[in-house]
Order: sequence, then structure tokens, then C-alpha cells
Amino acid sequence: MWIYGMYELDEDLYPVFADTGHEHPETYKYLDYLESVLGPIKRVKADFTARIEKKRQYVQEHWPRKLTADVPGRWWTDAEEAGEAPDWEPEDKLSEHTAGLWTWLPAEKGMTDKEAADVVERALSALHPTGIPFLDLCIWKGRFPSTKARFCTEFLKVRVIEEQVYDPILAEGWDIVSWQGVRAEESPARAKLPEREDGDGFSIYRPLIHWTADDVFAMHRKHGIDPNPLYKLGMGRVGCMPCINCNKAELFEIARRFPKEIARVAEWERIVKMASKRQAATFFPTARNMPEGIDGWVEWSKTVRGGKQYDLLKAIEFDNVPACSSAYGLCE
Ligand code: SF4
Repeated sequence: MWIYGMYELDEDLYPVFADTGHEHPETYKYLDYLESVLGPIKRVKADFTARIEKKRQYVQEHWPRKLTADVPGRWWTDAEEAGEAPDWEPEDKLSEHTAGLWTWLPAEKGMTDKEAADVVERALSALHPTGIPFLDLCIWKGRFPSTKARFCTEFLKVRVIEEQVYDPILAEGWDIVSWQGVRAEESPARAKLPEREDGDGFSIYRPLIHWTADDVFAMHRKHGIDPNPLYKLGMGRVGCMPCINCNKAELFEIARRFPKEIARVAEWERIVKMASKRQAATFFPTARNMPEGIDGWVEWSKTVRGGKQYDLLKAIEFDNVPACSSAYGLCE
């Protein structure tokens, strides 16, 4: 969850929540609780209706020809899948700036007319907006974001806040200070962020950047504010459920406690796969010798020795979920 704030001249703070549609139900309840004790929170979410409609047209007009043509080996970017021409094409697609954004696709033989028509029909049946931002983004792109192509943050949080919150405020002539609740300890990338910097037309302030997790929960206690209950249910983070960045232990914890969230993502994989030109899309990238899809990754989360061996203790742990446990010691 990202909370941004804007100072008016009287220094009132306006919290904003960018809803990805991929949050745990407890997080939505927690937002209601926060509003009841702290006041209104502006909720914004991205809308991909127009983009999906544009892609429908692109699929109808171009996919039959593209799918039946023999294709030489080439570099590919997801902008192509979404029916948009890539807006730039670097010479070195393996440089540190472009790695992960471009994929080398080997030469392919074109499909028959019938095979191509089936792919187009399946894609068109999936290319309908659902109103769930994360899912609609993936339907439009024909793929899920990944740790290397992390377009989810940009499309579901950054752009939507700029368009729906910042732009109208700036148009009225106000200055904006965006308060971002990130901490240096959360990741190596966040550790590099400064406390203050200039954004695009606004300034950024990160008041918690040097705080520890204990500092955060101590501040909750000081002001009598409950933390998100997911922190007492083994979660180390409470953003998307699961986040594309989640590690093995986090996936294990999510899968044993919240199987409905895993089932939801498995269903999303089925839909996004249909919308994909390659008829393949998984939430986490498919690895060698792994079953496809999130269910395969959940099985892997129960293993040790790099996935080579099931761990009996982990299997027992998976089925015996403690009612209360916290990575931050909140249950004691
Ligand atoms: S999946 Fe992770 S990185 Fe992507 S928007 Fe959600 S929390 Fe952010």
C-alpha cells in the first residue's frame, strides 16, 4: 500500500491510496478502519478500458497476418504485445538499463489460418476490462509484470496518482509535497533513495526512510492505531498479495494462510494466457523443471535444496497454521 500526501498552505495532509485490485481483503478492511479513526483517504485506481479496446482492434486487424507469417529470430518487448509500437529501441538490449525489458525470441514457423483464428478468438474472448486494475493491466499487456519488467508500479501507482491526484492539484496552482512511506531497510533499491528530492513538477519527502520496523510499530502504539492485521498473520509486507517480488518464505506463508489469494492468481493466469499472443502467461516466470503457473511455485516453496527435495517439516508446517504469528514480534 502506498500512501502519498499533499500539503496545502495550511499544511493539512491528504492521504491517497492507489488500489491495484490485488490487495488482500484484510487490507481493504484496514483502510476502512483507518478512515474511521483518521479521516478520509482518497482512493484512486487505474482504468484500462480504452487501452484494452485499442488492443482488441489491433488483435482483429493485425494478429491473423502476424501469427501466420514465419518470423525470424528477433528481440521482443511487451509494448508490442499490448499493440503499441515500442517508443525506443536501444542498440544494446542486454545493457544494465534494458536487460529484462527485451527478450530474444527464436525463429518461429507461422501458424495455419485455423490455428491463428483460434488464437485470435481466445484473445478476443479474454480482452474485456474487469475493473480490477492489476488484472486489466495484464490482460492489456498479455503478460504479468516481473522483477525485471516491473511495469505494475508505474501503471498502477505512479501514473494513476500523477493523473488523478497531482495533475488536477497542479492545474489549480498548488505546490505538492509527496510524502512516501518507504524505508531504507525494505530493499537495496529503497536504501539508495534520499529523504528529499525533486519529482516531476512536485517535491518528494520520505519521512520514514531511516526508520526501523520497530519505530513504525512504536508510532502506531503511541497514537493508539492498530497495525494492518496481516502483520500478525505472518506477513512481512502487505502490498499486492502476492507481490511479484515476494520470496520463497513469503510465498509459503501466503499459500498456507490465504489459499484463496493463490486460487485467484491461478484464475488470472488462465485469463491472461488467453489474451497473450504466445498463449502463455504465468504470474512468476516459468523455470526449468518446474510445473507451470503459481501452483507450481507454491509446491516449490515447500522444498529445500534449491527445489530438489520436499521437506517433511515444511509439509507439516504448511498444514498447521498458527492463529497468530508475526515477523515483527507483534503477537507477544
Ligand atoms: S506486484 Fe509488487 S511491485 Fe507490483 S505493484 Fe504490487 S506491490 Fe508493487
